[in-house]
Amino acid sequence: MDADQFRQFGKAMIDYIADYQETIRDRKVLPSVEPGYLQHLLPDEAPQKGEPWQEILKDVDRIIMPGVTHWQSPNFHAYYPTACSYPSIVGDMLSGAIACVGFSWMAGPACTELEVAMMNWLGKLLHLPEEFLNCSEGPGGGVIQGSASEASLVALLAAKDKFVRSIREKDPTIPAAEIKGKLVAYSSDQSNSSVEKAGLIGSMMMRLLPSDEDGALRGTTLQEAVRKDREAGLIPCFFIASLGTTGTCAFDNLEEIGPICQEEGIWLHIDAAYAGTVFICPEYRYLMKGVEYSDSFNFNTHKWMLCNFDCSCMWVKDARYLMDAFNVDRIYLKHNKTSHLPDYRHWQIPLGRRFRALKLWFVLRSYGVEGIQEHVRKDIALAKYFESLVKQDERFEACTLSLGLATFRLKGDDSLTQKLLDKITADKTLYLIPCYYRERLVARFVIASRMTQKSDVDFAWSVICEHADQIVAPKIKKMESVIGDKYKFDAIKITTNTECLEKSK
Ligand SMILES: *Cc1c(COP(=O)(O)O)cnc(C)c1O
Repeated sequence: MDADQFRQFGKAMIDYIADYQETIRDRKVLPSVEPGYLQHLLPDEAPQKGEPWQEILKDVDRIIMPGVTHWQSPNFHAYYPTACSYPSIVGDMLSGAIACVGFSWMAGPACTELEVAMMNWLGKLLHLPEEFLNCSEGPGGGVIQGSASEASLVALLAAKDKFVRSIREKDPTIPAAEIKGKLVAYSSDQSNSSVEKAGLIGSMMMRLLPSDEDGALRGTTLQEAVRKDREAGLIPCFFIASLGTTGTCAFDNLEEIGPICQEEGIWLHIDAAYAGTVFICPEYRYLMKGVEYSDSFNFNTHKWMLCNFDCSCMWVKDARYLMDAFNVDRIYLKHNKTSHLPDYRHWQIPLGRRFRALKLWFVLRSYGVEGIQEHVRKDIALAKYFESLVKQDERFEACTLSLGLATFRLKGDDSLTQKLLDKITADKTLYLIPCYYRERLVARFVIASRMTQKSDVDFAWSVICEHADQIVAPKIKKMESVIGDKYKFDAIKITTNTECLEKSK
C-alpha cells in the first residue's frame, strides 16, 4: 500500500468510524452470534496475493461488525465504561504512525517527555500529593501503564523487592527466598479480580479481607489480620486499597487504613481504576481523603476519562523502588544522555511501550478540564436519575448509588433478579450484569457510554420494566388504576340495579 492508497483507505475508515458512532444507538448492544461464528466466514489460509482495501473494508461490515459487543452504545450499562472519544482515536492514529518504542529517553524523547508532562498535568488535576509528581523535588513520578492490573502487579513487585532488600541489608545471612515466602499482601473481598491475580503472578500470599456492610474495608479488619500474621512469623508487606470497587463502587476507608499501613511499614497502593477520574471535580475529592498515606496510586483514563484503551495512569512516591526492582540493563539499552528524565522501561514489566501520552494530550486539550468535569457530572446525574426511576416502582429495591453506578433488584428472591437479567441479556437491547451486595444478587446499571442521555436512561428503564412485567405483576400503580376502574364499574352497576328496582316498584 502506498501513501495515496493509504490516504483513501484512511479517509474511508474515518468516515466509517464516524458513521458507526453516529448510528450506534440503532444497533442491538449484544451481537447475535454463537461461539465459532467467525471461523466459518474466513478462509483457512492467509491470502497469497494482496487485496484492495475496498475488499477489506467490505469484510469489516460482513464479518466483524456482526460479532461486536457495542461497548460504546448508549444502551451498554455493564462493567464500567471503556472510554472512547474522537481526539483520543486520532491520538492513537498518530501514535501508530510514529510507531516508536519509547523504552528510554533516547528511544523516544518526545514520547518520554510528553508522558512526564501529562502525568504532571493529570496529577495536579487530581490534587494528588506533591510527592507523586515528576516535577516535584523528590524521587516520585508518574508513568502510563497498560492497565490497572499491570499497575497493581508493578506496585506489588516493587514492594516485594523493597522488603527483601531492606531485610537483607540488616541481616545478609537470611536467604531472599525465605523472606519472599513470608511476605503477605492484603486487599478486600470486594477488590477487582486483577488484585488476586497480582498476588498469584507476584507469588505473594494475598489475603482478601472481609469488607463491611457497604463494601468498604475498615481499619480494624486490616489491623487484626496484620497482628495475626505477625504472630505467625509472617511479614505484612503490601496493601491494595480500592477507591471505587468494581461491584458497587464502594470506597475503602483510607483514613483508617492509611495510618495502619504507615505504622506497620506496609506499601499502600490505591486502585482507583474507575473512580479516579472523579477527583478532577473538587466536590468529589473528599472520597480520596487519606491519599497522602499511599505509596502508589493508579486510575484508568481508559475507563471514565475519554482516553481509548490502554492508558492507565500510575504514580509512585519513590520511583527508585521500581528501578531497583526492574532494572536489568544491557549494553544495547544504555545511552549517554542521562538526566532527571526517566527511562520508563525501569518502571514497567515490558521493555517496549507505545506513545500513549499523545491521546492523553489530545483529550486534555480538546475537552479541557471543564469538558471532562462536565462529562463526569452528567454521568453521575444520569445514574441518580436512574435510581429515582427505580424508587418510583414498588416492585424494585434501589440498593446502592455511587458515582455513575446504581444497583437495584426485584424485591424477593434472588432468582427474580437473575431471571430479569437473563431476559434482558437474551433480548440484547441492553446489557447489564449482576454483582452481590450484602449477600444478595443485584443488577448493576452503569452509565458507560459517552453518548448516554436522559432519553436513553428512560428507554432502558422502559425495557427493564417490560421484562419485569413478565416476571412479577405489573407495576402497583397500574393495578390501583385497574382496581379503581373496577370499583367505578361496580358502583355504576349498583346504581343501575337500584334504579331498576325503584322503577320496578
Ligand atoms: C476495571 C477495574 C480494574 C481492571 O482494570 P484493567 O485496566 O482492565 O486492568 C481494576 N480495579 C478496579 C477497581 C476496576 O474497576
